[in-house]
Amino acid sequence: MRFLVTGGAGYIGSHATLRLLDAGHEVTVVDNLYRGHRGAIEALARVGGPRLRFVEADILDTAAVARALRDGGVETVLHFAALTYVGESMERPDDYHRTNTTGGESLLAAMRACGVHRLVFSSTAATYGVPDAGAMPITEDTPQRPINPYGASKLAFEQVLRAQTAWLSSVALRYFNVAGADPAGRLGEDHRPETHLIPICLEVALGRRPQLTVFGDDFPTPDGTCVRDYVHVEDLVDAHVAALAALENGTVDGTVDRQTPHRFLRWNIGIGRGYSVREVLESCRRVTGHAIPAAIGPRREGDPPSLYADPAAITRDLGWRARWTDLDAIVRTAWDWMRAHPAGYR
Ligand code: UDP
Repeated sequence: MRFLVTGGAGYIGSHATLRLLDAGHEVTVVDNLYRGHRGAIEALARVGGPRLRFVEADILDTAAVARALRDGGVETVLHFAALTYVGESMERPDDYHRTNTTGGESLLAAMRACGVHRLVFSSTAATYGVPDAGAMPITEDTPQRPINPYGASKLAFEQVLRAQTAWLSSVALRYFNVAGADPAGRLGEDHRPETHLIPICLEVALGRRPQLTVFGDDFPTPDGTCVRDYVHVEDLVDAHVAALAALENGTVDGTVDRQTPHRFLRWNIGIGRGYSVREVLESCRRVTGHAIPAAIGPRREGDPPSLYADPAAITRDLGWRARWTDLDAIVRTAWDWMRAHPAGYR
């Protein structure tokens, strides 16, 4: 099949592109390289050869995206391109709305003009905000009340998708915390700036940072540090593959409904249990064999004590469940890539 992947030079988009190429598909990547890496495209080209096309363009450039769709003979779109930092979204809310919501609408306009009517959207647990009384786990029916412009911009695009079912079949996958790297070591995670817990611990182990600052140890959790649901990027990509099958017919059970062929579907992607910051730090120490000095600092604004998914719906509907449930194994894949690429994609 022929796919278009937006944000395919970024962390998750590149891993999804790799999977599609490994499966023999043709992929056109559209990425503006604002935070994506040319090095990731080069790594993908080594795998896909001529089955990989790269178009350096912004998703707000509707005409360029439409050209990429036509030139690639695209049937289905995986949409990862986004701005993704919660903190930055507080300072630049307009940019987040423009890229994440308006950019998505621009992509839809191009798709509609080209007769492409299948989309998988990279959404986020940040669309839920903080559930009442911190009730966990989060199901798909947990009310979506984002607490920052990042979550709001992703939710706004989900609402756009929901309103387009006259012509579009779409799936929103709401990711919890994503971690790890291609187990074969072809791709990894390289964020500039890096704000995520696991890569920061590993950068300390590599000597790129002096220490980890733990953002608060007085939360109402078992060890006082925040609890999150870390899903391996490879499992996350598996969920996309499962969702693509559901999109083929617009229904989850594989039947074709001729009255309403197009649907909006949504699932949470997580392993269904949380690990605390301390547990992640201990795991990184075990895997790297490095002491990883850490100091307790103040809380980071907007961090809820505990967030983890109820992934029962996607297990029931699509048979997906996380295979990487051992935190050390997840961390090891990230560590292997980082050790082999101490300067990231540079
Ligand atoms: N965290 C931390 N120190 C850091 C980075 C993150 O203590 O330098 C904590 C953060 O407060 C949160 C957890 O690690 O509780 C995961 O943070 P990350 O930024 O990786 O993902 P988020 O849950 O914010 O999406």
